[in-house]
Amino acid sequence: MIDFEYHSPTSLDEAFSLMDQYGDDAQVMSGGTALVLMMKQRLVQPGHVIGLRKIPVLSSIASDGDGAVRVGALCTQRQMETDPLVRQSLPLVADTYSKVATVRIRSMSTVGGGLVHGDPNQDPPPTLIALGASVVLSSKGGERVVPVEDLFIDYFETDVQSGEILTSVLIPQAPAGSGAVYTKFLPRTADDYATVSVAAIVDADESNNCRDVRIVLGASGVTPIRAKEAEALLRQRPLTEENIRASAAAVKEAVDPLDDFRGSADYKRQMAEVFTRRAVTQALSLGR
Ligand SMILES: Cc1cc2nc3c(=O)[nH]c(=O)nc-3n(C[C@H](O)[C@H](O)[C@H](O)COP(=O)(O)OP(=O)(O)OC[C@H]3O[C@@H](n4cnc5c(N)ncnc54)[C@H](O)[C@@H]3O)c2cc1C
Repeated sequence: MIDFEYHSPTSLDEAFSLMDQYGDDAQVMSGGTALVLMMKQRLVQPGHVIGLRKIPVLSSIASDGDGAVRVGALCTQRQMETDPLVRQSLPLVADTYSKVATVRIRSMSTVGGGLVHGDPNQDPPPTLIALGASVVLSSKGGERVVPVEDLFIDYFETDVQSGEILTSVLIPQAPAGSGAVYTKFLPRTADDYATVSVAAIVDADESNNCRDVRIVLGASGVTPIRAKEAEALLRQRPLTEENIRASAAAVKEAVDPLDDFRGSADYKRQMAEVFTRRAVTQALSLGR
């Protein structure tokens, strides 16, 4: 491990002035589950680590009107799985976070750290994008709000700029009566990263015509991918088995998976189709 100095600010202002003082030689840390590994592997070598844990304003979970929930960036992934408000208002979110790694990892890793890490294989981003969630990025100069859909730029690269801290995430509820699913294809072990994952939200009327649909894939490219073509093949159409199959087939064109030890790109492309079909079918059955 490299030598570094650890700072523990108790307010955002103090954190911003430390970031200002140490510039590129500083890295903020939340749970440390990703950062410490990267430091051990010498992928990053900050001289100053700014821990965010003692900043109380980052740790709240609260209603934000219309069923939406605002989550502080320092909330752990385990809190997202167990918090009563999240479980009641955002059951898809609680279920998705329960599928991240193991309880030990979830108890340390945070909502904000997970998003800024920008690993395309992570579980929460597809669900947060499907729900239309947004993040607040705060800096000395003010705040900006970025939809989670626009946060991921490239492989392990996000739109978070130097001097910015992700402070909260606003997560809207799924439409009333809709069905929502997060499926994670795990052919190896139960605590692995996904080989392919799909979040699907289906809002259908009484005759099973599709009012709206969101389909977002993880582990299927260098960022999470919203399958807009596949959505368009269902929106305002009957949700028949044939239409769902045609929509899922379109996903194969949208994804661009990487070859790795979890499977070849071609295998993952085929699994993206299979798991999209299953996710949409299951979401439809859970609605109303
Ligand atoms: C063994 C193992 C298994 C895993 N399996 C899974 C899995 O199955 N599914 C899954 O989704 N994830 C998995 N993960 C990844 C895990 O979810 C991430 O490591 C975690 O989310 C990172 O959160 P953290 O709070 O620990 O971030 P940190 O390690 O503290 O930080 C990560 C990065 O974000 C930056 N950062 C942190 N907080 C902020 C902030 N508020 N504002 C700006 N920048 C910030 C840091 O500088 C760093 O670059 C696994 C990790 C491990 C170690």
